[in-house]
Amino acid sequence: MRFKDFNFHPKINIGIDACGYINPTPIQEKAIPPILDGQDIFGLAQTGTGKTAAFVLPILQKLLDRPRKKEQVLIMAPTRELAEQTHENIVKLAKKTGLKSVAIYGGIKKQSQIRIIRSKVQIIVACPGRLLDLVNDKVIRLNAIEMLVIDEADQMFDMGFLPDIRRIIQQLPKNRQSLMFSATMPRQIRLLAEKMLQQPVTVQVNHSVPAPTISHARYSIAKEQRTLLLKHLLHEHEMKSALVFTRTKHKAKSLARQLENAGYSATSLQGNLSQQKRKIAMDGFRDGKFKILVATDIAARGIDVLGISHVINYDMPDTVETYTHRTGRTGRATQTGQAFTFFSQADKKMISMIEKNLGKKMSCNPSPPFEPAAKSHARKHKNKNFSHPARRKKKIAKANHGKQPCLWSESLTQALA
Ligand code: AMP
Repeated sequence: MRFKDFNFHPKINIGIDACGYINPTPIQEKAIPPILDGQDIFGLAQTGTGKTAAFVLPILQKLLDRPRKKEQVLIMAPTRELAEQTHENIVKLAKKTGLKSVAIYGGIKKQSQIRIIRSKVQIIVACPGRLLDLVNDKVIRLNAIEMLVIDEADQMFDMGFLPDIRRIIQQLPKNRQSLMFSATMPRQIRLLAEKMLQQPVTVQVNHSVPAPTISHARYSIAKEQRTLLLKHLLHEHEMKSALVFTRTKHKAKSLARQLENAGYSATSLQGNLSQQKRKIAMDGFRDGKFKILVATDIAARGIDVLGISHVINYDMPDTVETYTHRTGRTGRATQTGQAFTFFSQADKKMISMIEKNLGKKMSCNPSPPFEPAAKSHARKHKNKNFSHPARRKKKIAKANHGKQPCLWSESLTQALA
């Protein structure tokens, strides 16, 4: 199938060409025809499958076929980054159509957003909180919305946005077309879909399985040695750009700083940053100014940066879905990518759940090729009791002639030098 088979308006085809899309992706093939037909859609699609264009392109076509009005389409996204990215995608695809879009999210002053809304926009891409704010301020009116999209619905739910979404939906005209996209379908999302969508067509691609263009490797590593392993991998592998995931905001910040101090061009993306700093971090990572972005899940949700060569799970993801989302940041479109996951004994159950979902074992890279000196030393003296950490430290220090214990072999020390 080719894009020309959809008979899009020539002005939209110019946008498709400008984005360099040649053939539709599977989700586009499946979702575009029923959306053009006016049907409601429940799309089960992971990130990186081309789902944004799957709803943006038919929306543009429908808007071109109708009288142009203010605020006709509402797209809801869980994070500022995703809202901004979707808006940018629309700007590119709609370049020649004269249709206008705005991204609405908190963390920045309302004024600039209000100015754009007043200049008559057809498409609003919004995070729920700021949208409700502007609706309450009577800056945005929802009574003319003809099409609604809820993107990354499962994440909306995880982030506690469901009550806000319900409040927003109550204010929309009943007679509208609704599309909902989610990577997974937990019970709450199914209930929301049943309430929100009318006789929806379900379209599904590779539900919850990372793209086949990604290779997966795991490294068994003690928690306190993860930074050392990370630096080693950054040194050993040719990483064009790497996205490193940590569980906490604090760790994202401190790890980025540690990498920076070690000479890497690294920055962090986490919820404690102001919107402006988040933008600087994202833009810098996208433009290649920063080769490494250390991020938390929430901040990195849905980010679309082409050419991320590696995703590194410094901290294990909490769920299989989170693993899919994280690793979906690499191997986007048809590019290849590598995902490295650090794990310890306590994470073994999650590793086997992830592997079950992948349908294969992750390659278990000898973890790592450089054995910790502490371990080999312990093996040499396996009859002696090395279980107590303080005693072990003392013994290793003694074995190292009183120097700081060298946890890694010579070759690693050289690699890090
Ligand atoms: P998404 O799943 O919407 O985040 O899209 C993932 C990436 O695929 C984005 O960089 C899109 O620009 C790109 N993309 C979307 N549709 C196509 C297509 N038909 N051909 C090639 N790349 C595409």
